[in-house]
Amino acid sequence: MTTDQFCVKCRRKMRVAKAGQEVLELTEKGVPYKLMTGDVLRCPECDYDVVARFGEVTAQHNDDFKERVARLRSLGYGLLEVV
Ligand SMILES: [Zn+2]
Repeated sequence: MTTDQFCVKCRRKMRVAKAGQEVLELTEKGVPYKLMTGDVLRCPECDYDVVARFGEVTAQHNDDFKERVARLRSLGYGLLEVV
């Protein structure tokens, strides 16, 4: 197994552009569901970005989930909210 990522269009190995990207996954109705930390990977040819390689995952049933979401949102930057 490998965590390497390749751009299909350019056939280049993607490089880490940012480590420790916080990602908040929302339900289709916009309700916070899962908080994860991953890496932003960028194609060196076309600058296409993806976020992948997630490590720690905090789900909505965890005790500190709402507090962590509120804190990250209050920081005003850096949190990527996805559906
Ligand atoms: Zn590319």
